[in-house]
Amino acid sequence: MTYPTQPKASHFINGAYVEDDAGAPIDVIYPATGEVIAKIHSATPAIIGQALDAARTAQVEWAKMTGTERGRILRRAADIMRERNHDLSVLETWDTGKPYQETSVADATSGADALEYFGGMAATLAGQHIQLGEDWVYTVREPLGVCVGIGAWNYPTQIACWKGAPALACGNSMVFKPSETTPLSALKVAEILVEAGLPAGVYNVVQGLGDVGAALVSDPRVDKVSLTGSVPTGRKVYASAAAGMKHVTMELGGKSPMVIFDDADLDNAVSGAILGNFYSSGQVCSNGTRVFVQKGIKEAFLARLTERLGKAVIGDPMDPNTSFGPMVSARQTEIVEGYVAKGVEEGARLVTGGKRLERKGFWLEPTVFADVTDDMTIAREEIFGPVMAVLDFEDEAEVMARANDTEFGLAAGVFTRDLARAHRVAAGFEAGTCYINTYNDAPVEAPFGGSKQSGVGRENSAAAIEHYSQLKSVYVRMGDLEAPF
Ligand code: NDP
Repeated sequence: MTYPTQPKASHFINGAYVEDDAGAPIDVIYPATGEVIAKIHSATPAIIGQALDAARTAQVEWAKMTGTERGRILRRAADIMRERNHDLSVLETWDTGKPYQETSVADATSGADALEYFGGMAATLAGQHIQLGEDWVYTVREPLGVCVGIGAWNYPTQIACWKGAPALACGNSMVFKPSETTPLSALKVAEILVEAGLPAGVYNVVQGLGDVGAALVSDPRVDKVSLTGSVPTGRKVYASAAAGMKHVTMELGGKSPMVIFDDADLDNAVSGAILGNFYSSGQVCSNGTRVFVQKGIKEAFLARLTERLGKAVIGDPMDPNTSFGPMVSARQTEIVEGYVAKGVEEGARLVTGGKRLERKGFWLEPTVFADVTDDMTIAREEIFGPVMAVLDFEDEAEVMARANDTEFGLAAGVFTRDLARAHRVAAGFEAGTCYINTYNDAPVEAPFGGSKQSGVGRENSAAAIEHYSQLKSVYVRMGDLEAPF
């Protein structure tokens, strides 16, 4: 059977689809059924070289265009993405298994937001004038050159745009490598950018596993690397980039705390816990997977949560009513099942879920553990699946120490009606992205990223510009220059 998901070719280089059958074959699998929906090839060294050469050449002319011209193309691409949101969302659902109910509002739309936001900003990028008496200095905001983007599999379209939009707005070119688990959507992003008027070679996509990513990161033609992935991969990529003194952005994993005080609005807190643990079947980096619930509302919280989980619609991801889809792959399903077994073995109380669903594809029930303690594996390691760990606490000082007792620092959330406490807790969180009475919002206008082991740099907002450009200082003397001899 031929699926509509089969791309014209595996890679997109210099404005066109490119194939090289010599690359290792990769099957693209629809997670809801386990069926192969496309076949592509990993990039060979020749393909990698072709993409980097194209990006190097194209970047020079792209950087010479005005910000207004560059921005216009990005904004046009945003418009096309919005017009095709339905088709792009269906493709994202094929690629990731995430329900259409989610992909239609959180993937191409979020990518379009980034293209529109950074497209609008491109014309405003400027240096500074610094007066020094009669002399002066001016700064020029210059692009870095060729940027490599490497993506995880949970938000393929969004990641391709969150990295591409600020890079291109600043006058860089990009070679993007999606995760081999979800290789389809980034090709569509490249196609749309070219249709919007992007010069050939400015945005390229090559496929492959970690070895292709590693080859890109270590290549001397590359000036910057932006990775979305796990902490162990981040360490490797950062070290390799450091050897070439390359700029980096690291968007890595987390084990984020969500703290729910007795005085919180119970339904809002349950909504936050659901959004922060079960959206995208729990495969979200910033998820608040350590849910600290103050003892006074613990049982009420668990009862309401269980009742609300019973309303999850688990089924065909293409059905707009479905609100909970499969895991992305067989491998990820096994990893998560391993953690569920560990939770039971280490003495956590399984409140609901924990089982694989008897159907084709990679399905796990939404799972909640209560009576979890800080030292349990499920409270310390990133699971990246639909598994919530509920921990009890007595008071604020105690919960803050425990919430921060982790190597990660991606996100953190607090639910309370006490305004002063909410801000005090947010100030005390050791995390890059904090939420008060909400969870997992990621609008393009606000910086997103982690502290501690969870990352370096920020995506979205004006802050991203700092990570895709560098300043040149030009010193100007108006009078004669004195020298000692
Ligand atoms: P991985 O770290 O396994 O992979 C991330 C990407 O890096 C993939 O494209 C992978 O290729 C590639 N890669 C692997 N090894 C290397 C290497 N040595 N050099 C260069 N590239 C390499 O993460 P997952 O794809 O499993 O995604 C899940 C992780 O991503 C979680 O930890 C999650 O928290 C994190 N994440 C972070 C986000 C954030 O913004 N902070 C957002 C989303 C996810 P391949 O997989 O094809 O082998």
